[in-house]
Amino acid sequence: MAKKLCAICNTNKVGWLSPNIENDSDAKMCDSCLKSMGLEPTNFSNDVILKYDGVDKIKELKASGFKYDYKTRLSEIKKLNQQLKQDIIDDNLRLSKLEKNQSDTIREINNAKSEMEILDLKSKRDEAKQRVEYIKGLLDNNPEQPLHNNVAENSDNNDKFEEIKKYKELLDSGIISNEEFNDKKSELLGL
Ligand SMILES: [Zn+2]
Repeated sequence: MAKKLCAICNTNKVGWLSPNIENDSDAKMCDSCLKSMGLEPTNFSNDVILKYDGVDKIKELKASGFKYDYKTRLSEIKKLNQQLKQDIIDDNLRLSKLEKNQSDTIREINNAKSEMEILDLKSKRDEAKQRVEYIKGLLDNNPEQPLHNNVAENSDNNDKFEEIKKYKELLDSGIISNEEFNDKKSELLGL
């Protein structure tokens, strides 16, 4: 088990980390930083907030003396997740339309009367593609996924009932479904 420095203060060591932590999505906050931002170190949901808001934003918030209301933030994150899922559906539709009409677009570009018109058409096409890539990236970093992995990795180091309590919290916050909670509970209890 490698120890890493807190992603926010870069000073305090944080424990219970898997040894292969390299990217931002695996960043952890130390208890002291969590407390100073109004977060309870024992709440597992902190991981969701850290993954969602990101190290840079949290550093900024901390510097401004901001304090989280974690339940409110979790419900906001849940809404954002739903919005993102809808966005990616919309964007994929838009993209497939664009791709379907690619020959039209090429013809349009060829027929465009001015340099400006060509640039405009090209940037519209590129923007839609970039947006889809961006949203796909966000969905890949969806906090719900890494969270499950982390719990699986770390379950040996934590009291199982504490784990279950944390999942109950996620369930109550609407971050995970009843089914996911029951699956996790059975897994942890070895049922
Ligand atoms: Zn810290």
